[in-house]
Amino acid sequence: MNIDLLKRLCETPGVPGREERVRALIEKEVVGLFDEVRTDAMGSLICRRSPRPASRKGAKVAKNERGRPTRVALLCHMDEIGFYVRHIDEKGYIRVAPAGGFDTRNLFSRRVKLVTKTGDLDAVMNPGGRPIHISTDEDRKKIPDVKELIVDTGLPAEEVKKRVRIGDFLVYNDPFMLLGSGKNPANGKAVSKAMDNRVACWLGIEAVRQIEDEGKGHAAEVIVIFTTQEEVGLRGAKTAATAVGCDIGIGIDVTLSCDTPGVPADEAVTDHGKGFGLHVMDSSFISDHQLLDDVEGVAKKNKIPYQRTILLRGGQDGAAAQQSGTGARAVGIVVGTRYIHTTAEMIDLKDLAAARNVLAAWLPTIA
Ligand SMILES: [Zn+2]
Repeated sequence: MNIDLLKRLCETPGVPGREERVRALIEKEVVGLFDEVRTDAMGSLICRRSPRPASRKGAKVAKNERGRPTRVALLCHMDEIGFYVRHIDEKGYIRVAPAGGFDTRNLFSRRVKLVTKTGDLDAVMNPGGRPIHISTDEDRKKIPDVKELIVDTGLPAEEVKKRVRIGDFLVYNDPFMLLGSGKNPANGKAVSKAMDNRVACWLGIEAVRQIEDEGKGHAAEVIVIFTTQEEVGLRGAKTAATAVGCDIGIGIDVTLSCDTPGVPADEAVTDHGKGFGLHVMDSSFISDHQLLDDVEGVAKKNKIPYQRTILLRGGQDGAAAQQSGTGARAVGIVVGTRYIHTTAEMIDLKDLAAARNVLAAWLPTIA
């Protein structure tokens, strides 16, 4: 299991609208896996792999009733939630605008990385106000608004003004971490600030790599789209999916795993370690029921663990694919994630492997 790739994807900063470093990393990783790789106007990376006869069996690639191969798009968003620099005050403190949905209860005292034109800066982010020693009872109960957060680079004001511009961006700065793994890391958990959604970037690469390594043929055209600006409204996926004109769209993303104390079992969405999530619906789209059955059948046949999931609120790129052009059949393949949209997003690596394995097993069967 290529855990090093997941670590590199997770530790690369890229907020909505500024995915270029993540894209550059992926572009290097996919060399040799696709026939055509291009970047569209919104920055999405579109990687197309033509149908392949099975190398060992020499089977012919079948044409379907469309007179052309079925076009399957996997949508994997590259952006992570983060902040843009909105204001720099006379003392050099920075105020921010959020890019993506934050629960500000998780934003006390964070280490951040500020990405500027002249290089990355380490900094800390705190709500303005008094520390515990001198705070009032009232202060302590308050949950800060994003607009009250201040970023402190430790640099003199003139230096900050020279190096930082309105529109520069920042992300959490915490290292990728493996937990509970014992001798085999792949049996444990992984933690990072950006599992949402570098998990999907990893799957878009590794599922195709597995098909390639196993010499499996596929009759469908497989297009992996690494999309932009998902966290602010599936924006990159809308245009990229329209450009590609897919027949089947697979939205790959994380989903909730609230199998932790304080949440009733009926709201858990997924349980960690019980397999990939087969996404039935969320508030942005309802999966094609036949595709759900198809994926389920492949999972059962190959003994890949899975769980059907419904997310009451939230959306993902599968919705953009479904409603692109004249419409497409869509389904979601998701990975349960604890502590989502925090710097401690945690996945079970067995669930990640299951998601990769089902994609690598299913894509070659699509006629
Ligand atoms: Zn996501």
